[in-house]
Amino acid sequence: MRGIILNTVRVRDEDLIVRVLTKREVLTLYRFYGARHSYINVGYVIDFNIEESAKTTIKRLRNVTQIPFMFLFDMHKTLFFKRYISLLDAHLKDVSRVESFYYDSLIKLCETLHESDVKRSILNHYVSLLEKEGRLHNDFRCFLCERVVEEKVALVRGFLVAHEKCVHQEGFDIEKVRLLFEEKKTLLFNDDEIDKLWRILDLGI
Ligand SMILES: [Zn+2]
Repeated sequence: MRGIILNTVRVRDEDLIVRVLTKREVLTLYRFYGARHSYINVGYVIDFNIEESAKTTIKRLRNVTQIPFMFLFDMHKTLFFKRYISLLDAHLKDVSRVESFYYDSLIKLCETLHESDVKRSILNHYVSLLEKEGRLHNDFRCFLCERVVEEKVALVRGFLVAHEKCVHQEGFDIEKVRLLFEEKKTLLFNDDEIDKLWRILDLGI
């Protein structure tokens, strides 16, 4: 089967506990001598088998091969993607069953990252994730005072919407945020604004 590595934790000498996102599940598996296999790395897409073990409750990760993607040759893009996957791992912390949206949309992201701007593409993905989870506040109602935001939109962790004065933070032009929220397009934001959006995403998803 195929999956995306969400997290690895070293145990004993070189063994690893590996969390893998598949189409339907988040699996926690045991990998012997993980450190010798460089393709066990956060953000990598792998083909693998699961082996039941009579001795332990945790199943084993076996026959791992990495599925290559072009963007992985770009260290800068790889770092941002890995960071996003780590944020996603924290978000899916206590989850075992998932909808196929997560796996399918991340694979699509991996396939296109080599030819697109990494931060913009991930921000688009994040907004579709918020929408999928019913957490996208496209009614533009301030989460603090509950009145509609009409001009500048301040965004806080989780892309919650607020008035600038309610959170004492500089906002973004509402047309820009509206295009992002409604069409998953970042094209109205300049690069500084994209960095700002990234820093908000980086607080946790
Ligand atoms: Zn407000």
